[in-house]
Amino acid sequence: MKCDLDGEFSNGGLQRFGNIEVSPSAGVLNYGQGLFEGMKAYRKEDGKNILLFRPEENAIRMRNGAERMCMPAPTVEQFVEAVKATVLANKRWIPPAGKGSLYIRPLLMGTGAILGLAPAPEYTFLVYVSPVGNYFKEGVAINLIVESEFHRATPGGTGGVKTIGNYAAVLKAQSIAKAKGYSDVLYLDCVYKRYLEEVSSCNIFIVKDNVISTPEIKGTILPGITRKSIMDVAISQGLQVEERNVTVDELLEADEVFCTGTAVVVSPVGSITYKDKRVSYGEGSFGPISKQLYTVLTSLQMGLSEDKMKWTVNLS
Ligand code: PMP
Repeated sequence: MKCDLDGEFSNGGLQRFGNIEVSPSAGVLNYGQGLFEGMKAYRKEDGKNILLFRPEENAIRMRNGAERMCMPAPTVEQFVEAVKATVLANKRWIPPAGKGSLYIRPLLMGTGAILGLAPAPEYTFLVYVSPVGNYFKEGVAINLIVESEFHRATPGGTGGVKTIGNYAAVLKAQSIAKAKGYSDVLYLDCVYKRYLEEVSSCNIFIVKDNVISTPEIKGTILPGITRKSIMDVAISQGLQVEERNVTVDELLEADEVFCTGTAVVVSPVGSITYKDKRVSYGEGSFGPISKQLYTVLTSLQMGLSEDKMKWTVNLS
């Protein structure tokens, strides 16, 4: 779909995956005017029906991001229709139930040519998909390092929206961490350097004395759809959930730590390294609370339990 700065998106229809042509002076290439989303489609056990998870939430998040990035965005209906059409056209690539999912990547970018710093004059919205397995091995605890030197977001910056530049900011810290054998990086706030923010591509939760806590949304972390869903699932299970500032000291004292995101679903954290200290949690897999939340959420996403929340969209 294409449009100009205040225009309507026109439907470009389905096209075979391949390279796209953009001007060397496209806004996205020069000034980072790009936003994306990450979603998953699961095949149900009957082999026929396919489930999307809360696609309107991704559409709304992209629209919020577009406002911050001075871009027009497709309507919620246009976004969801484009996702559904792309998934249905690629049905044969969706793995069987229990064997993975179809990862969906909606992308909005300034494709119009612009030399001086300003919003691009033209925009493209597209959706592409790829079958995927688990991002981290299912249920196997990940090892995070708390980053003290690099930050992914600053107050007043773009950390709260899913813009491409946020991911450029984490590449170096993530590469260093992976070379040292860590699964990923946990970022701290850049003012006090003591409050938890998030991991490169997922949100963080701690559990202490059966109370679940996660950093509040203040513009520097992504409002994860899995984060929000897990909080609702936890409340529906009678668990206590707090959104607040969580310090790195609390993290090190926690009973359980886990991450949430579309790609990682719910991933237990097995160890945290902070400065010279390494703290381990559990036995290398889920703790009792993350296991419970993982089971409820994935059963719902895969259509194995009744969707009382009305979060899934069925395609067949
Ligand atoms: N934080 C960041 C930086 C992310 O890239 C993601 C993945 N979209 C998340 C958190 C989790 O968001 P969601 O649950 O919507 O996938």
